[in-house]
Amino acid sequence: MTDDPRRLATLAVHAGEPRPQPGHAVVTPIACTSTYTFRDTAALRDHFEGRSERDEYGRYGNPTVTVAERKLAALEAAEDCALFASGMAAITTTLLTLLRPGQHVILTADGYRRTRQFVTGFLGKFGVEHTLAPPGDHAAIAAAIVPGKTRVLLAESPTNPYLRVADLHALAQLRQHHRGLKLVIDSTFATPINQQPLTQGADLVLHSCTKYLGGHNDLLAGAVCGDAALVGMIRELRGVLGGVLDPHSAYLLTRGLKTLDLRVQRQNATGQRIAELLAAHPTIEAVYYPGLPDHPDHAVARAHMRGFGGVVSFLVRGDEARTSRFIDRCQLPQIGPSLGGVESLIEQPALMSFYELSSEQRLAVGIRDNLVRLSVGVEDPEDLLADLTRALADL
Ligand SMILES: *Cc1c(COP(=O)(O)O)cnc(C)c1O
Repeated sequence: MTDDPRRLATLAVHAGEPRPQPGHAVVTPIACTSTYTFRDTAALRDHFEGRSERDEYGRYGNPTVTVAERKLAALEAAEDCALFASGMAAITTTLLTLLRPGQHVILTADGYRRTRQFVTGFLGKFGVEHTLAPPGDHAAIAAAIVPGKTRVLLAESPTNPYLRVADLHALAQLRQHHRGLKLVIDSTFATPINQQPLTQGADLVLHSCTKYLGGHNDLLAGAVCGDAALVGMIRELRGVLGGVLDPHSAYLLTRGLKTLDLRVQRQNATGQRIAELLAAHPTIEAVYYPGLPDHPDHAVARAHMRGFGGVVSFLVRGDEARTSRFIDRCQLPQIGPSLGGVESLIEQPALMSFYELSSEQRLAVGIRDNLVRLSVGVEDPEDLLADLTRALADL
């Protein structure tokens, strides 16, 4: 872990940025280049023998990407960070680095759908076994560990869409009796503003930077942060598999990260207010938000998180049609997948990620037809509250 004593909002603006920048600019430039040149063959020798810090070819590194990597590493209190073309590229490259045929991975059962597909389908074809463990049930997770075989415990926290929060300290404890087990946390919903998993004992932290870290619904990116040796191995495989981030998106990510603290503080505050409004509303059947006292992980979230996030999930009292009517009546939140951006987005999971399933199949994976997921943006909270109140009235 790094020991930069500055606080997160300061790191978000300044960490990773060289001073002075090329041309004495205040902002990191976009190094739009596929390859790099060497002054002479001696410079080439210096590079390959580790005597110079420079880039060689675009699939192995780019200075604009490096700035974003260093900034995010500082925010996660990590020694190193590797960026990827998407969250899924980061997740798949990380798992392929850590796992070999004959080994075993545990994934929390409500994990991101494509992560689950990769673990249960793709990795299975390559002889990696898996167990899906119920989120929030540490005894079941502990029982799923196969001594000598389980190499990765991958958990999301908070999860989608019910915002289950893992006790990372408790999960990290499990490694005491299982040497070689790595705790990998997908912290996309939390951001380093709300939790830093590495400071709570995780070995690696993953992000879909597409969400809060980029924060403006204008880029796709993924990240893995952790100690230099592990991230170095993952970066090596990135250079083989090729899922690198391009410098334009890295520039947008750096720009987005500078306001991460401001945005997430606002989204935490508005999320809490919206959750409270909905919880008290007669047309709402249930609200899932870790900042509410009746959420199953409220105590864990209070103990280990600095904020509860900007995603609020809830059930509208009634059927699929009434829920759709409510969503169609909302004027500020737009209908769309994804989350974490400045624009509020709303979706009915039954009609989005789970559209091709029947109601019964959806129920089996815990998705009810009247479930709504709202990703709170940075609009004025009064306007959002008024819009939701109006959309719910006389539904
Ligand atoms: C969106 C998301 C991903 C996938 O990230 P992409 O950038 O879309 O590839 C992985 N994990 C979680 C928790 C996500 O929300």
